[in-house]
Amino acid sequence: MTGWVQVAGLGPGDDGMITQEVRDAIEEATDIVGYIPYVRRIAPRDGLTLHETDNRVELNRAKHALEMASDGKRVVVVSSGDPGVFAMASALFEALEAGSSDWLDLDIRILPGITAMLAAAARLGAPLGHDFCAINLSDNLKPWDLIEKRLRLAAQAGFAMAFYNPRSKTRPHQFGRALEILREEYGSRTLISFAKDVTKPSQSLTTVPLGDALPEMADMRTVVIVGNKDTRQVGRFVYTPRSAE
Ligand code: SAH
Repeated sequence: MTGWVQVAGLGPGDDGMITQEVRDAIEEATDIVGYIPYVRRIAPRDGLTLHETDNRVELNRAKHALEMASDGKRVVVVSSGDPGVFAMASALFEALEAGSSDWLDLDIRILPGITAMLAAAARLGAPLGHDFCAINLSDNLKPWDLIEKRLRLAAQAGFAMAFYNPRSKTRPHQFGRALEILREEYGSRTLISFAKDVTKPSQSLTTVPLGDALPEMADMRTVVIVGNKDTRQVGRFVYTPRSAE
């Protein structure tokens, strides 16, 4: 039997946002690997083994997937949103680089999904309609100084921005610092949106000027979108015009 690994994005939460390509991969799989809440989204069936792992063991998980594929299994590694956005696709390639050179011949595919910022932007209107960037605010894998530098320079360049992993219990103060930097560069009137549990029944969307933003408005289930100086509201929608001066 020929094994393979497909790293698949399950989208932000609503099953309607899982692509057909990802559904087909899950149907053909013998093994599903991933962080517990994502694996729980997969319906159990005969012939399918579900491997649930903790969040912090991404490299081991990727290595395990590659080992199983070289044993002939058909393995789907699941991520939320898109697997290439702060998720498992890079971890898989890191494991590939560090592992056996035989693995380079394996059938490996990355199946895209709808990432949180795009689902959130669609629910809000079109806040990312002009140039934008995405920044992971977690300093687990990079120094906080670098995050501050990127934030400041992105604001100076006039980007709208999406922030992933904005604020966790283990680092409650950094998001307040991020807001300070944004206010210094963008002033207090630029719009910021907090999109929590996007596409899930518990979804909530809040948009305020930066001057009214509080750190408590964000948590790990929130993707934060800050506009640029042109971002504005029309009725209940937030959008950034396609042209800039
Ligand atoms: N690969 C994922 C991101 C993983 S990082 C993707 O492409 O979406 C995890 C972060 O993503 C969370 O801390 C949060 O900032 C964001 N996120 C993921 N799903 C979300 C959802 N349904 N609603 C709001 N934010 C979400």
